[in-house]
Amino acid sequence: MPSLPWRDIDTVLLDMDGTLLDLHYDNHFWMEHLPERYAQLHGISRAMAELEMQPLFERNAGQLQWYCLDFWSTELKLPVRELKLETAHLIALRPDADTFLAAIKQAGKRVILITNAHRDSLSLKLERIELAPYFERLISSHDYGFAKEHPQFWDALQADIGFDPKRSLFIDDTLPILRSARDFGVAHLLAVSQPDSRKGPKDTGEFEAVGDYRELIQGL
Ligand SMILES: [Mg+2]
Repeated sequence: MPSLPWRDIDTVLLDMDGTLLDLHYDNHFWMEHLPERYAQLHGISRAMAELEMQPLFERNAGQLQWYCLDFWSTELKLPVRELKLETAHLIALRPDADTFLAAIKQAGKRVILITNAHRDSLSLKLERIELAPYFERLISSHDYGFAKEHPQFWDALQADIGFDPKRSLFIDDTLPILRSARDFGVAHLLAVSQPDSRKGPKDTGEFEAVGDYRELIQGL
């Protein structure tokens, strides 16, 4: 578990799904619930549903439209927004994420949410989990037209909020996104060791990872 040089950090950029919220909701929705409802609503088997959905998933991973509910509603001919509500009870904070948020806000850090989630998915979650009060801004990459994986996202973020990447911490559970932040010059980067509570620890490659948020705020 890394100890952070908090005195050198004045901006904290945070991802939402898998970082502050349990990725179980999203994983369960996309890998279980959606294929199940796709099969039912189109009158085909579950195996056939997965066969049809898999190439779409592979083709669009990491693209902005991957995170766009309108895109999936059109591609799959399903009311994806409404289907997401059917499993909304699974939306949950990761352990002590709220303690962490309260502590960094209290310490006077500038705290900004940056997510690839579509505004609709963001609202769905913010209606259930009280995250908004901790943040100066809630930014969806859809506002800029570039996913966080792309260098243009970081230029747009810089133009929008004006931050010093050398004095910023960014936490995200997706490695290509962390690499994109690193290329932009964000100095303090952390992955998440277990984004989905129902799965084991994840390989976080060259990045140190957050396990316990309470440990991370020591020395703040
Ligand atoms: Mg994430």
